[in-house]
Amino acid sequence: MCPVATNLADLVMSRCDELAACSEDSGCITRRFLTAPMQEVHDRLGGWMRQAGLQIRVDNGGNLIGRRHSEGATRTLIVGSHLDTVPGGGRYDGVLGVLLGLAVAENLSESQLPFHLDIIGFSEEEGVRYSKPYLGSSAVAGVFLPEWLERVDDQGVTMREAIAGFGLDPDNIATAAYSREEVVGYVEAHLEQGPVLEDAGAPLGVVSGIAGQSRLRLEFRGEAGHAGTTPMLDRCDALAMAAEFVGEVRSLGRQTAGLRATVGRVEVTPNATNVIPGRVELSLDVRHVEDSVREQAVNDLLVAGKRIVNAVNGSFVLLERTAQQAVKVDGNMSELLAKSISRCGHEPLQLVSGAGHDAVVMAQRFPIAMLFLRHPGGVSHHPDERVERDDVAVAIEVMSQFATRLAETFASGRHI
Ligand SMILES: [Zn+2]
Repeated sequence: MCPVATNLADLVMSRCDELAACSEDSGCITRRFLTAPMQEVHDRLGGWMRQAGLQIRVDNGGNLIGRRHSEGATRTLIVGSHLDTVPGGGRYDGVLGVLLGLAVAENLSESQLPFHLDIIGFSEEEGVRYSKPYLGSSAVAGVFLPEWLERVDDQGVTMREAIAGFGLDPDNIATAAYSREEVVGYVEAHLEQGPVLEDAGAPLGVVSGIAGQSRLRLEFRGEAGHAGTTPMLDRCDALAMAAEFVGEVRSLGRQTAGLRATVGRVEVTPNATNVIPGRVELSLDVRHVEDSVREQAVNDLLVAGKRIVNAVNGSFVLLERTAQQAVKVDGNMSELLAKSISRCGHEPLQLVSGAGHDAVVMAQRFPIAMLFLRHPGGVSHHPDERVERDDVAVAIEVMSQFATRLAETFASGRHI
């Protein structure tokens, strides 16, 4: 391992510790959109960026941006992730990707790049304060909708007031957007938040796509009745139907490669010990990197639900169905990331992201690529979240390599 990368990795680890202290709650890490602890993060991180020679600014979406300026360049490579957390979150989710970007800028030191390198700390990805995720990246990608400004947090503060209170202009969020032409691409490094890299013994992996997601609310309707007097063969038990359905969800998930299918919420009515359940509402979450596979799975499960209720004369109602399409990564940039991993002596593993990231929104306007870091224990959105210092060092080397090789493609006129 290169000693410079190891030293920078130590710095990233200690900076993650320092930023973890910027929290709304003492004893755990909670940092929501444009709260006082976020200002503290901006002060500390902005100071480190300035020390590294970056030009810093905060855009009207509340994103902190540090630019490694390249004389004469007209285009920009963006590296970033988010600075907010869930309540009681971990110290690496989001923040790690921003600090890795800064470490890469520090590692490249004097070398000339034919593009600016912008390190962005997005203001909000988790969607906790205003029940709306990806606020920061939506501003940068130019897809922020003005009506979101009227949303109210649990203290009655509108988003408009929160932005103005941070010294920014809510009526000019559009100025935060980068044009499609000026951006070379967006690269995000993030904890895997899963076990794939750890099981494979690999420090890093390249994301091959971000899974699309279907979310449904379903209802099984049966007939409530006395638990003691209704004979078993005369029953139309909504929970028994729902239980059979959950079994179908699990078996389809197991049989279909790459599918994730989950019933995570069940509401039983009347939910009493001595009454046969008359009604059960449940959630269904289905994800796959191929939209057609996901849609087929949802349709198959709806057919299964109908079949289950038909057998007992119950009914099965689709209450709500929403979907988010899968996100494609940029082939050239992802290949360059994979080559950079190989060059650093590691197997360039490919894996699907089952979770959403700022890259989902950035992909609406820019080419994107994502790098995942091994996540020991896979625990995320939790204080026990961990990452290995040595994996962070490899990530710094790989991302620096990536930027240098991307610069070479510019020099040869083969740029993306
Ligand atoms: Zn995250």
